[in-house]
Amino acid sequence: MKIDISDMYSLTDKETTREVHIDMVEMKSKAGCFPIQAGEPFVLTIANEKGKRLRLTGEARLSARIPCDRCLEDVSYPFHLVIDKTVMLTQADDGQEDEDDEVASYIDEERVLDVDRLIFGELLVNWPAKVLCRNDCKGICPKCGTNLNRAACGCEQGVPDPRMAQFLDVFQKFKEV
Ligand SMILES: [Zn+2]
Ligand SMILES: [Zn+2]
Repeated sequence: MKIDISDMYSLTDKETTREVHIDMVEMKSKAGCFPIQAGEPFVLTIANEKGKRLRLTGEARLSARIPCDRCLEDVSYPFHLVIDKTVMLTQADDGQEDEDDEVASYIDEERVLDVDRLIFGELLVNWPAKVLCRNDCKGICPKCGTNLNRAACGCEQGVPDPRMAQFLDVFQKFKEV
């Protein structure tokens, strides 16, 4: 969702709240592509502080489907994003625009705020390094691929399953090529 916040640039010391919603359906990053589940609308507060900066605050909740680190089953991972952003107003008092000013990537030249870009940045920062479906997830058997949370496979550690041995040989051949 995009909202025009241009009026807030000139309303010194005024504050406004907008109910906004998240349109993004997936999170694409270096780590992969993860479906986003129904982000509830949330209230974004936009405050003009002394005509010098805009402060954006709000709390957004949404969840993403992320595979468990051990068993690869999808986990619905909840995010509680606490947004608190300060945007310097590019138009300085002396009328000069500072080229070096870092303008927030989620606000375009028309002073339209892209909620999804803002959320994308927050998700990146809050993205978990590791997701487990449960703390004691047993993972998958490296030999037969059985999800060990669901069933025991009976494979012995260190001794290849004879049914898998031929596949392992094939893998070995591939590696040697
Ligand atoms: Zn798991
Ligand atoms: Zn096994």
